[in-house]
Amino acid sequence: MTEPQSAVERDAVFSIRLPSVERVLSDPSSAPLIAEYGRTQTLAALRTLLGELRAEMLAGKVEAPNSADGAVIGSAMVNGDGLPGIAGLNAVLTQRLATAAVSSLKQVFNLTGTVLHTNLGRALLPDVAIKAVVAALTSPMNLEFDLSTGKRGDRDDLVEDLLCELTGAEAATVVNNNAAAVLLMISALAPRREVIVSRGELVEIGGGFRIPDVMLRAGAKLREVGTTNRTHLSDYAEAIGPRSALLMKIHCSNYVVQGFTKSVEIDQLAQLSRTHGVPTVVDLGSGTLVDLTQYGLPHETTVRETIEAGADLVTFSGDKLLGGPQAGLIVGRADLIKKIKRHPLKRALRVGKLTLAALEPVLALYRSPEFLPERLTTLRLLTRHQSAMRLQAERILPVLQQVLGSAYVISAEPMFSQIGSGALPVDLLPSYGLTLRTSGKSRHGRGLGRIEKMLRELPRPVVGRIANDALWLDLRCLENADEAQFIAQLNKLSS
Ligand SMILES: *Cc1c(COP(=O)(O)O)cnc(C)c1O
Repeated sequence: MTEPQSAVERDAVFSIRLPSVERVLSDPSSAPLIAEYGRTQTLAALRTLLGELRAEMLAGKVEAPNSADGAVIGSAMVNGDGLPGIAGLNAVLTQRLATAAVSSLKQVFNLTGTVLHTNLGRALLPDVAIKAVVAALTSPMNLEFDLSTGKRGDRDDLVEDLLCELTGAEAATVVNNNAAAVLLMISALAPRREVIVSRGELVEIGGGFRIPDVMLRAGAKLREVGTTNRTHLSDYAEAIGPRSALLMKIHCSNYVVQGFTKSVEIDQLAQLSRTHGVPTVVDLGSGTLVDLTQYGLPHETTVRETIEAGADLVTFSGDKLLGGPQAGLIVGRADLIKKIKRHPLKRALRVGKLTLAALEPVLALYRSPEFLPERLTTLRLLTRHQSAMRLQAERILPVLQQVLGSAYVISAEPMFSQIGSGALPVDLLPSYGLTLRTSGKSRHGRGLGRIEKMLRELPRPVVGRIANDALWLDLRCLENADEAQFIAQLNKLSS
């Protein structure tokens, strides 16, 4: 055959060699694809594939294509005449459509040792919340409908009484997250006025949430007082003036100030508030509803303690230590909550029905604090005994060692977990898990990076952490119920 002269000519030749879209779709081998993915999606994928092939044939690259599934394009797809056949095309399509159908949001195993890991979705919800969410997903609900009067209701009413009961506050409202709670509170209560904050508390939480920026966005003026390490009551007192709207305290969630330090307690600030008529508001971050020391965990100031100390408003997250869905809760004085609820931002920041459906049963669990370590998933993980994780480590170790062979030295070791999401940043929980070290045959960094990547590429990805020339797999968050699945997929690893 003589070489075609122009691009148009060549295109024409290859169009003849490639089967038409209609021929492929009407072939019996396409029927299962159309049945599963529909004609629209199958057609679109086929057009893309034929387009790529045409381009590769024109470039003379069909024999050695460089696309992701190039191997298939190069060989399997080619029929006896050395031309792309329908069965071959469909094999590629099947693979591509299946890949596209896999959800991007995947279940993973969190073996990082951080229980409330923001990047892995923070708190896991208990069964009662899951049931409530399923009901809300599949049935109409009285979200904003007062069943006693038949009139329009307020979605906050669904959880307000519970929140008041658990915190001792007069009133409560719920928004999308704690960042939204702080933004809304300041926007509603301090527009064009001053919010007095200690320099030791001008925090940046992960994800670009900085208190000075939030103030600016909320239209308030930040009035910094004291120094990074020491702030006295007199610093607040001297800053109070006619433009003062709020005294604000912010939980140092992800750091500690140590050494020659001084900060003002909430009860002292609250007294100043009463004298000057300027409310004290507290961003508590984690928002614990019970005394954690009863479960052998370190003490974290509870919302009730903060309200009892005299805070006029407290904001906190729903998905940190509280163990519920992502939400921002504001509790405190009824007149201030009323003002907040009337602000237009409240409508923009409100929560959806799924959040409220999940939040109510989680809050209700707190009525029986003695059952919490068993019923509230977050607390169950935080209070797991080191011995439980040690037994798990001993069960998993031989399986992993067998799959990975001698390239890695694996050991079962004690280690420390952390709560995460800004709760008690320096308190560590004794845990147990596995460490993987390269056995010296491969270079350190590369070998660890490789196994870390292989674990991330498992059907249910495993996320650990690399530190001190080892990959650490903390087993605190691998509950016994998930262990079989974890072990079963390990044979997909091969070093
Ligand atoms: C975590 C945290 C926030 C942000 O809460 P989100 O619920 O993640 O929006 C704000 N302030 C403090 C002190 C925090 O710890």
